[in-house]
Amino acid sequence: MSEPVAPESTLPYPPIHKDKKFIALSDWDGTITTHDSNDYMTDNLGFGKAKRREGNLEILTGKDTFRDGFRKMLASVVENGHTFEECKEILRQNIKLDPGFKEFYAWCKSNDIPVIIVSSGMAPLIRAVLSNLIGEEEAHEIEIIANDVKIESDGRWEIQFRHPSSGFGHDKSQAILPYRRLPEPPTLFFFGDGVSDISAAKYADVLFVKTKSDGENDLAVYCQREGIKHILFGDFVEVLAPIGAIVKGEKTIDDFIRT
Ligand SMILES: [Mg+2]
Repeated sequence: MSEPVAPESTLPYPPIHKDKKFIALSDWDGTITTHDSNDYMTDNLGFGKAKRREGNLEILTGKDTFRDGFRKMLASVVENGHTFEECKEILRQNIKLDPGFKEFYAWCKSNDIPVIIVSSGMAPLIRAVLSNLIGEEEAHEIEIIANDVKIESDGRWEIQFRHPSSGFGHDKSQAILPYRRLPEPPTLFFFGDGVSDISAAKYADVLFVKTKSDGENDLAVYCQREGIKHILFGDFVEVLAPIGAIVKGEKTIDDFIRT
């Protein structure tokens, strides 16, 4: 598969794990959490759900880039006067962990599989919510490759994109591709749910796509449309059996696949 041209990164990457057989990379919002924190902010503190969904669909159909659509959503939160600290606190109180994630994370640890969060959200918010949900120590251990935030002296804030020249803002394929270039590349699992994962979808070896009862299944729609092989899951409890079978070599992705 041809590789995209790497956009310039304004933020550092953690060193890559060179000696692992498997790596688990996962989206954060709506995948490791039950609810997307940026959607939560936009719906409750910004311009609201109807306008946010309109924006999501424009991104999905290619009328807007993820970067620009997402920037507008977050800007609506700032326009309504909400500080970054206030948003952090509201998210700590309202964002919940996927019911199977802790078990999944413990399983990965015991099987020597690094878990890396690859997010279009802002790292300080992810750390704050994650430490609240799984504890300071575990939260510190998990690598996070995300965007950042710029906070002005007057309290206004703005997302700082990792890849400002990319329409994705954070091109998630750039977290995956260095692993594919290793002499003995690991098998790469990627977990995602939404439009922010489109940049990563084709580059994982095994793509898990989360579906939700609220019908906001944008990544599933995208993968079906583009014919990208994936495994659907409702929560991380359902992931343990297929990933366990793949890691043991008992099954391959094709045993679980939907296209
Ligand atoms: Mg997501």
